[in-house]
Amino acid sequence: MTESEKEVYEAEIKRLQTANQNKADLISISAHELRTSLSAVKWLLKMLVDGDFGTLSEGQHSLLERAILSNDRMVSLVNDVLTLNHTDNATIKYDFSELDLVSLVDEVIFDFRSEGFKRGVELVFIKPANQMIVFADQLKLRVVIQNLIENGIKYSEPGKRVSVALSADEKNATLLVKDGGIGIPESEQQNIFNKFFRATNAIKKEMVGSGLGLYTTKQIIEKHGGTIAFESKEGVGTTFTITIPLATSEKPAS
Ligand code: ADP
Repeated sequence: MTESEKEVYEAEIKRLQTANQNKADLISISAHELRTSLSAVKWLLKMLVDGDFGTLSEGQHSLLERAILSNDRMVSLVNDVLTLNHTDNATIKYDFSELDLVSLVDEVIFDFRSEGFKRGVELVFIKPANQMIVFADQLKLRVVIQNLIENGIKYSEPGKRVSVALSADEKNATLLVKDGGIGIPESEQQNIFNKFFRATNAIKKEMVGSGLGLYTTKQIIEKHGGTIAFESKEGVGTTFTITIPLATSEKPAS
């Protein structure tokens, strides 16, 4: 490559990087604005449902509960877009530190108890007695655990159970999220980690979804030097398994 060709090439890379950053900024601003509006709507709906403006009939109550659930789904979708916008950007730094995976999973389970309850899905976690220290970006790893538990609940019918288990060997911690939900059709399983992919049975059950959660989850786990896999049977259930190296083994590159 001649000097002048190199200059043109570098200028083009710079132009594309700037365009990409502008796009990411625009997505981020719009998504944050959307989330703020959705929070305001949720707050107003909660006040109505709590009877702050007068007693409601059973019908009115149940309609408002449905509106709150829809609003929650939209928030979850916007959150997916925000996380993807963050993790898809090659310049994003991971902020690694040593943390206890057992406590992190316990916190997420606590956050999802009421969601499970609302949907009639039992959330079970047998908390191990000992800590499991991993070298991780806490916020991003939290997103991974949230995505898997949220999907387990979302893709299960009322009366089913989502079980979460943690174990460790000398090298890795393993997290298992098992549900008795709708499962993933065998012919669609190879696409499950693709951006925007949603299986046909999932679209039928839950109209709203981004198809970004598992794509982002895989990216984050791989950045931690871990692995993600699943086993699923349509109509029977799905088990997702992730492994993350324990902090005593080799640390991932930031
Ligand atoms: P979303 O849930 O927003 O559609 P995800 O990226 O989290 O997006 O998941 C992608 C797809 O993988 C889902 O649409 C669904 O088809 C399938 N899927 C993920 N988790 C489960 C699960 N626990 N049970 C059944 N299908 C699942």
